[in-house]
Amino acid sequence: MLTVTAYGANSATSPLEPLTIERRDVGPRDVLIAIRYAGICHSDIHTIREEWGPISFPQVVGHEIVGEVVEVGSEVTAHAVGDRVGVGCMVNSCGECAQCLAGDEHNCEKGNTQTYGSVDRDGTITQGGYSTHVVVDEHFVLKVPESIPYEAAAPLLCAGITTYSPLARWGAGPEKKVAVVGMGGLGHMAVKIAVAMGADVTVLSRTDAKREDALAFGASQHVATGEEGALAGLAGTFDLIINTVSAALDMNAYLATLRPKGTLVNVGAPPEALPIQVFSLIMGGRSFAGSNIGSIRETQDMLDFCAEQGIAPEVEVISADAINDAYERVIAGDVRYRFVIDTATL
Ligand code: NAP
Ligand code: ZN
Repeated sequence: MLTVTAYGANSATSPLEPLTIERRDVGPRDVLIAIRYAGICHSDIHTIREEWGPISFPQVVGHEIVGEVVEVGSEVTAHAVGDRVGVGCMVNSCGECAQCLAGDEHNCEKGNTQTYGSVDRDGTITQGGYSTHVVVDEHFVLKVPESIPYEAAAPLLCAGITTYSPLARWGAGPEKKVAVVGMGGLGHMAVKIAVAMGADVTVLSRTDAKREDALAFGASQHVATGEEGALAGLAGTFDLIINTVSAALDMNAYLATLRPKGTLVNVGAPPEALPIQVFSLIMGGRSFAGSNIGSIRETQDMLDFCAEQGIAPEVEVISADAINDAYERVIAGDVRYRFVIDTATL
């Protein structure tokens, strides 16, 4: 066992604080990573505050992890000491079901092992990336391209893949009108990736505060949805909408902005239900879909795509003692556009 420094919570209502956690010994197929940076995803907040349901404490979250390989097990072939690597939202899966065999570990029929808050293969609860080191099966470790700085690469491991996957699956590209709802951590990456794929992108944000940024990221249009009649004015416009919002919205109003046969993909994960009027789908044969991160293979494709296209998240690097304030700023929508923890400050 390796005892490592971390930052986590002892209850859903207490602030995060310094903790120590145990990492398992490096097994034959494991990689030990010295973590350099960990991004703060809104899912970390939903989880640790038990907004999605009860968890066990103490808990360390964080599933946007980058760092350097410092030790490999005897059977590891994919990674070597000194490699720049990343770990996202999952660290294991059954490896035997039809989904895993098809390379879709994120849809594992037995449920994949999440980077934090899951029961690990040794029966312990997985602990996330707000820590100095992590031990991960080599299959779930990604290669971080040299051209992407460590701190900017971290948010790609969740925000990047969660938006790349549905944009690729539903064909964002030239001649396609794509709308991104909510421009936070996921949303700003959705904009950059959809633009890089060649789509015509509109940002649907609550206010005008992020208009200049949206246009700088390559969007052709920004609409402040808080203004009277804003959505009604967009009726029948989009081929694809990616909803990244962390709170419940009126989906029927957004479905009406799809073209016939268009699809609204929900990646935002509010704890509340999102009621749909069936006529919002029936009229025009529109679809309402969901998407969960992406496979390991697709995550590597996304990292390589971002490197080729020269795109990366906008980050604000913080020290560990600023994590609790950062959570409040994420909830208030006051982040441009992802907080990333420098683990040297843990
Ligand atoms: P975030 O940085 O907080 O961004 C969410 C954005 O939603 C905000 O910037 C804001 O954009 C908008 N928003 C927030 N509250 C709102 C409200 N009450 N009404 C309308 N709009 C609101 O969060 P994130 O890290 O991008 O995560 C977004 C959601 O995706 C979370 O629920 C997270 O759990 C989920 N998630 C899902 C997956 C998956 O695999 N499906 C993976 C990762 C995260 P504007 O200021 O532009 O309006
Ligand atoms: Zn996440």
